Amino acid sequence: MSAALIDGKTYATALRQRLRKRVDQLRASHGIVPGLAVVLVGEDPASQVYVRSKSKASLEAGLNSFEHKLPADTTEDELLDLLDQLNADDAVDGILVQLPLPKAIDAGAVIDAIDPDKDVDGFHLINVGLLATGEPGLVPCTPMGCELLLRAGVPSLAGLHAVIIGRSNIVGKPLAQLLLRADCTVTMAHSKTRDLPALCQTADILVAAVGKPEMVRGAWIKPGAIVIDVGINRVVGKDGTMRLVGDVAFAEAVPIAAAITPVPGGVGPMTIACLLENTFTAACRRRDIDPDTI
Ligand code: NDP
Repeated sequence: MSAALIDGKTYATALRQRLRKRVDQLRASHGIVPGLAVVLVGEDPASQVYVRSKSKASLEAGLNSFEHKLPADTTEDELLDLLDQLNADDAVDGILVQLPLPKAIDAGAVIDAIDPDKDVDGFHLINVGLLATGEPGLVPCTPMGCELLLRAGVPSLAGLHAVIIGRSNIVGKPLAQLLLRADCTVTMAHSKTRDLPALCQTADILVAAVGKPEMVRGAWIKPGAIVIDVGINRVVGKDGTMRLVGDVAFAEAVPIAAAITPVPGGVGPMTIACLLENTFTAACRRRDIDPDTI
């Protein structure tokens, strides 16, 4: 057996093309152009790359893009003032503050200062609560991308045992909520979990969101399982060049799993596509338009 590749890149491209048409339709029918404001504090090179690609993707989808780059010595109060302005700005439907923030700024306070209706990262406590109680809100982008990829490949998720390794607020926990909502039986694993390999062997769906290169070995995977690799790790190859690997030992997993996301080209591209989707959803809902009708 050789696992089918779950091609997140192709799926994300299709999602973005479909969104572009919906954005055009929203503009034609309601005169609305959704706008995404991305706020970057400091000069972190990886964050700069992420912010650039989010702004570029917004423009390609036909959205308005507003970039706010602030110096590393920006105070929490200055950042909160900017968020007040963006919350009040009707041209802004989505607000994303690129993390991590400089240490002097309390990230929790910043996230909770974003209007929950514009919180396209889905990190605000109101959106966390809505997700946990199964109510409509804005859902974090990476878990949303994982669920879309799973649904694209599996007709019904009901009753499947999903093991999620990693319990962060941005990936593991919200994904557990989404898969519970999809009627999976969900087990969360983390650094204190005992006998992780044995637990993983019981998973119909195995999600790795850890940040440890190739930690999940082929022998941990139940034959025929679906493997979603969220990890993005930079490692130095034998030839001295940098390459990206996931949290799963991909070559070992391929002969065992039924389907697997590659790294790169799996979950990563879905994250940005879902951010654009969330901005569109926020723009519609803020004006009492059902996004599913567009
Ligand atoms: P965090 O560091 O916030 O969380 C890592 C989780 O892994 C924690 O819950 C931790 O457990 C658990 N963990 C660590 N070591 C082990 C271990 N040996 N065995 C079992 N569990 C372990 O990471 P994130 O959730 O932010 O990110 C995870 C990965 O996903 C990273 O590689 C990141 O780069 C990637 N990522 C990719 C995205 C994408 O778009 N594709 C988006 C976001 C993240 P404990 O809680 O006990 O400490």
